[in-house]
Amino acid sequence: MRIYKVGGAVRDRLLGIPVTDIDRVVVGATTEEMLAQGFRPVGADFPVFLHPKTGEEYALARTERKSGRGYGGFTFHASPEVTLEEDLIRRDLTINAMAEDDQQNLTDPYHGQRDLEARLLRHVSPAFAEDPLRVLRVARFAARYAELGFTVAPETLELMRQLSESGELEALTAERSWKEISRALMENQPQVFIEVLRACGALKVLMPEIDALFGVPQPEAHHPEIDTGAHTLSVLEQAAQHKQPLTVRWACLLHDLGKGLTPEEEWPRHIAHELKGLKLIKAVNERFKAPRDCQELALLVGEYHTHGHRALELKPSILLELLQSFDVYRRPQRFEEFIAACEMDARGRKGLEQRSYPQADYLRGAAHAARSVAVQPLLEKGFKGPELGEAIKRERLKALKAYKEAASA
Ligand code: ATP
Ligand code: MG
Repeated sequence: MRIYKVGGAVRDRLLGIPVTDIDRVVVGATTEEMLAQGFRPVGADFPVFLHPKTGEEYALARTERKSGRGYGGFTFHASPEVTLEEDLIRRDLTINAMAEDDQQNLTDPYHGQRDLEARLLRHVSPAFAEDPLRVLRVARFAARYAELGFTVAPETLELMRQLSESGELEALTAERSWKEISRALMENQPQVFIEVLRACGALKVLMPEIDALFGVPQPEAHHPEIDTGAHTLSVLEQAAQHKQPLTVRWACLLHDLGKGLTPEEEWPRHIAHELKGLKLIKAVNERFKAPRDCQELALLVGEYHTHGHRALELKPSILLELLQSFDVYRRPQRFEEFIAACEMDARGRKGLEQRSYPQADYLRGAAHAARSVAVQPLLEKGFKGPELGEAIKRERLKALKAYKEAASA
């Protein structure tokens, strides 16, 4: 049997960037031979094994054939006769379809190295169109390698467009889509992921709520970039530049969805877009079964981001409601993430990326003031049950009034 490194490990070594996970393909072996050598089988669908010592993945060379809709609609064929070239041709991109042996001898039948040099993400064969997940994968690789100058080859973008129009994208499961979306959002240029999806028509299918933001104007005084879609991409870009976690990036992406619902005669104003957007945010959250913390933060940021921007003008009673809505007493971290998302929203505006955001420290100070109210003295005064709750609220309000006065003095 012959063993080769394939996929990302070869690609990233040639690009001179650190290799994180190593995928290997085994040619000329049977399942029985693998088991006899101590490899442990994983996965019911594919002939994939874990190395007995390193735990790394080894897959038997295989061919595949489309036999129905979606990802389940594939038949695989693995046997010792399947050649390396046959295994490589089923892969998505030419730069992912190279293999190398122990001595770093490269097998590159589909010219991945040429495309690496040309900085092109190009599909290997027309079979690309058999798995709609590849649309998301290509957009994700575009987001990852944009800083190295990579773009999607025009003919690949055309295939992605055909896939998007064919209705095949709808066959993707929430789990497979979310895995790609969440990884793409954590890349250095996540806005490129959205741009590529939009360019091939996939955004309209997967997240029509975001697609609808392009072409929607906002008031130039607050938004020199004017376009709501362009603004959303800038906010996402800021979130990546500031190394924000996935929760914040997800909330940034969805924060302005309500602006897509504004009747044209109200443009460029967007009255109550925060509340109007909530049902859209909920729909996107559920469509991809986003993790609970991502869902929650997106909804809260959607509802309250303009509160964040107006923090210094908020009456103490509204400030208190805001803090209560976030349950800042038990969930201080979530409030920090809200503040971060608001700041990214403020910076995601053309020419205003570097401006300061004093609202952030003001909100932190307010949270601190409210959290500093001690419960023990109220218990000692004999407050119980709902009355205790009311008394705590009164004390917090007092603390916030004092905080606001001191801050404006
Ligand atoms: P990463 O650095 O993100 O791990 P990778 O290229 O190694 O990138 P993997 O998801 O680990 O990506 O997959 C390993 C290889 O398997 C890919 O390089 C590609 O050749 C192939 N591959 C994975 N998923 C698909 C798919 N849906 N369609 C076609 N080929 C795929
Ligand atoms: Mg990999």
